[in-house]
Amino acid sequence: MSETIFGKILSGAIPCHKVYEDERVFAFLDINPLSAGHTLIVPKEPARTLDALSDESAAALGRALPRICRAVIEVTGVKEYNVLENNGAGAHQAVDHVHFHIIPKPSPGEGLGVGWPARALDHKAGAELAAKLRATLG
Ligand code: 5GP
Repeated sequence: MSETIFGKILSGAIPCHKVYEDERVFAFLDINPLSAGHTLIVPKEPARTLDALSDESAAALGRALPRICRAVIEVTGVKEYNVLENNGAGAHQAVDHVHFHIIPKPSPGEGLGVGWPARALDHKAGAELAAKLRATLG
């Protein structure tokens, strides 16, 4: 995997506004925030998408994310927020290194806007799909 802009931030080759760091996780402010406090949390492991991440990095991210959410809430004073993680260009991933966004939602016009084209679940197809997923997950 070629080095991404986040790889360069992790190596210190380009600057960022650092928010948090531990052995496996690094967090910094987004350079084009959707709202004040928009923060990016990345594993130090250079995986492209979430499904490619090791259990160790996943566990470390899971531990760090709520802690960083609490800090963002405390510092911005904004209690509502979205956590977003895009995988693949078609799903709006612009940087090919796993990253979670924490995006405060201070008002309807700020923060993340979400399109949600929901349709009712077909329960017969849903039962088959869930059975296949359970079998795959073991
Ligand atoms: P994605 O669409 O891949 O989920 O989001 C990538 C995010 O990375 C965007 O919100 C963008 O503003 C942010 N970003 C891109 N380049 C840089 C950079 O050089 N520094 C920082 N801090 N954020 C960046």
